[in-house]
Amino acid sequence: MQYYEFTVIAPDESREAVMNKLNDMGCLGFIENDGQITAYFEWQKDIALLCDELSRFKLVLEASGLGSALSFRHVLLPDKDWNAEWKKNITPILAGENITIIPPWEKEHAGRINILIDSGMAFGTGHHETTRTCLAHIERISKEGGRKSLLDIGTGTGILAIGASMLGFTHIVGVDNDPLAVDAARRNVELNNLKNVEIKEGSISSVQGTFDGIIANLIAKTLIEIAHEVASMLNRGGIAVFSGMIAGDEENVLKAAESAGLVLEEKMFDDKWVTLIFQQT
Ligand code: SAH
Repeated sequence: MQYYEFTVIAPDESREAVMNKLNDMGCLGFIENDGQITAYFEWQKDIALLCDELSRFKLVLEASGLGSALSFRHVLLPDKDWNAEWKKNITPILAGENITIIPPWEKEHAGRINILIDSGMAFGTGHHETTRTCLAHIERISKEGGRKSLLDIGTGTGILAIGASMLGFTHIVGVDNDPLAVDAARRNVELNNLKNVEIKEGSISSVQGTFDGIIANLIAKTLIEIAHEVASMLNRGGIAVFSGMIAGDEENVLKAAESAGLVLEEKMFDDKWVTLIFQQT
């Protein structure tokens, strides 16, 4: 079996849209690493059509105001197992003080909290710095003690919800509006043998109840949209972690969160990414 391997380089703000597009185009699997997406397609696919679709997608990005500096190249992998190629690229990742994110086929790291993630088509492998930042915050919050429930908005592979369970939260809900992510997250919850993580399909409005912690690793626009609902679902003394926005966008997110009544505790910069930590008073 031969496969096409595409290497796609896209600006941060359009990467999620590009991954959705690759899914729509029938991609068999991809990995995201250091801002580069490697995607695999069956060799029977019409290669001219695939290239054409990606070129046209560049125009769509341009029209929607997202970063459109997309570049891509492809090779035909001769008689190789794309799955083995893909697996080779997925290695254990360290996060926080004591967390290791590993694919299911790797050996667990002794003495650390091991989060097993089979990413499939979903976002959240731990390769992205904002995922690791969020995990480090969940670890820190759990060490402070006293907070039991956590809501993860845009759960992707379920990585943050699963991490929260392993770090001591007792009631966790993860929600995602992409059915592929919901499938992946549910599979990963099972893979990690957890009984206290519920995965729902939909948006924050699909979730009932209030929480001691709410974490959202999303783009700025969505963070602004959900700020009021987050504030109303956060228990007094609860912590909200907003991550995933690009430096420059944080002021508008901050304004939305503060007008919803949240109080800023910390602003963190990690390369070009910003994380805002709020408390509900
Ligand atoms: N939490 C994971 C994944 C973040 S990627 C991590 O930190 O690595 C963002 C995820 O949010 C994607 O899976 C996307 O499908 C989902 N998403 C985007 N907008 C959303 C919304 N309005 N409501 C729920 N999920 C959303």
